Amino acid sequence: MDFYKKLNVPMSQPNISDLEIELVNAVLKSDSLSMGPYLREFEERIAEVANCKHAIAVNSGTAGLHCCVRAAGWGVGHYVITSPFSFVASVNALLYEGVTPILVDVDPLTGNIDPALVSQAAEDLACQGEASRKWLPEKNSDPMGTLKGILAVDVFGQPADYDALNETARKANLKVIEDSCEAIGAAYKGRPAGSLADFGVFAFYPNKQMTTGEGGVVVTNDADSAMMIRALRNQGRAPSDTWLDHTYLGFNYRMDEMSAALGVAQLRRLPSLLEARSQVADWYEEELKDIPGIELPKKAATTTYTSWFVYVIRLDRSINRNEVIRKLDALGIPSRPYFSPIHLQPYMVEKFGYRAGDFPIAEDLGARGLAIPFSSKLNRNQVYQVASALRQVL
Ligand SMILES: *Cc1c(COP(=O)(O)O)cnc(C)c1O
Repeated sequence: MDFYKKLNVPMSQPNISDLEIELVNAVLKSDSLSMGPYLREFEERIAEVANCKHAIAVNSGTAGLHCCVRAAGWGVGHYVITSPFSFVASVNALLYEGVTPILVDVDPLTGNIDPALVSQAAEDLACQGEASRKWLPEKNSDPMGTLKGILAVDVFGQPADYDALNETARKANLKVIEDSCEAIGAAYKGRPAGSLADFGVFAFYPNKQMTTGEGGVVVTNDADSAMMIRALRNQGRAPSDTWLDHTYLGFNYRMDEMSAALGVAQLRRLPSLLEARSQVADWYEEELKDIPGIELPKKAATTTYTSWFVYVIRLDRSINRNEVIRKLDALGIPSRPYFSPIHLQPYMVEKFGYRAGDFPIAEDLGARGLAIPFSSKLNRNQVYQVASALRQVL
């Protein structure tokens, strides 16, 4: 017990080196604290990582998603198909604009949106009749809405199945947003995450694979969308507007220059940060594979590189997760349920009338998922300590 009490294995941890400190200091010693040279460099480098023509940095992943929803032209009277197994920001970005999210269940292997259900929903919703009814939430959904798009999420660092999703989108004339906030650096059939749909969004909160403190970025190959997102993040200023001209209704979603400098430093180190995470995941697999009662993360056939965001194990249905969390905590090991499905969040139940049982796979994954400590800074010994604690508790 005493041995564990002294443990301090953090749930997650940013990885900051002297380079980050040096570049952020350089900004502080300059007069350029917003919209400066580091912002431009950050955007150029991100565009390379995602193999996209344009990158527009913003002050959070949520802000990036919101800008994409606006740039896609989605709003009141529109339906967008998305996943209940995500962080709330993906659905919220739709709600901000009055879009009705059409939730469909997920693939049990990865937790990513099930492309067969997306295709079925798209066909049924195009009819706007009885067939469409079953996809709509019980409350507050206009039965005469128009299906406009798909918002897919790259859950825990593995891209969703975009070949299938884009095929559905092509047939039904939909736009697709890739919420890649958990998957920078991942690859799908050899193509980089972020580049797999009309828009991609990355996020840089301190628990992500790389951080800017707070921050996010939108990537796209479409020049008109890029122009619009640049305007939206900067109070609606079109390229030819002066500081007090505002062609559009915009937001202040700008990324500051200190964050951009931090991001430039992190991007230079991104390959090694990702490899370190991958190493930790390998160690976990080695240590945990023989422990009865848990399932380890599985890789989809379409994932050619996993960008590890979190390490989420699944407990057998017979195991009481809260008890496991409590006992691990007593041993000095933090852990968290991951994700809590979006449709059962109180504001979603209130607005749309969702109930337990509506999306059984998302709920099952949500009920069994346990995130254990994970970052690029965990060492072999800490992984061993987490594994020993789990073995003891289970
Ligand atoms: C982290 C994350 C976001 C964005 O989060 P911010 O805190 O706004 O940067 C969006 N979607 C998913 C799935 C995420 O994990």
